[in-house]
Amino acid sequence: MKILWAPWRSEYIKKVDEERECFLCRALKVDEREGLVLLKGKRAFVILNKYPYNNGHVMVAPKKHLSDYLLLDQESVLEIHKLTQISLKVLKEVYSPHGFNLGYNLGRVAGAGLETHLHLHIVPRWNGDTNFMPVLSKTKVISFSLEKTYKDLKEAFKRWEGSL
Ligand SMILES: [Zn+2]
Repeated sequence: MKILWAPWRSEYIKKVDEERECFLCRALKVDEREGLVLLKGKRAFVILNKYPYNNGHVMVAPKKHLSDYLLLDQESVLEIHKLTQISLKVLKEVYSPHGFNLGYNLGRVAGAGLETHLHLHIVPRWNGDTNFMPVLSKTKVISFSLEKTYKDLKEAFKRWEGSL
């Protein structure tokens, strides 16, 4: 993955170390909007990344708190893939990106901020976005656009509720 300049990521890494409760597990317990949850399936869910690499950066994670991909049951693997397809459809529809980066970071050495709860990153990409990113470095700009992003995506994800 090409490195995007995302200074708020270091704040995120620090926060994850400090927080005792896993934010993915927490997101399932609190109000959907507060947890930034976009779609819940039976075994997995889609969540908006609070510290995005790019606008519309979502993650797909199993509901079960586990770190080892090899321990995922087949139903969960399938549902994560279904949710990934839905996410790609929704992101294409809402933001018309030119491409996507998809991937897991397994282990801190691979860049995982949260290494105890497996999650698949889906990052929309636009031509020239690596040049555009520094413009978005102010926290205020990000938190505003995060709210708007959640609202726009939630609306589009709603149609897929109950489809899994
Ligand atoms: Zn967890």
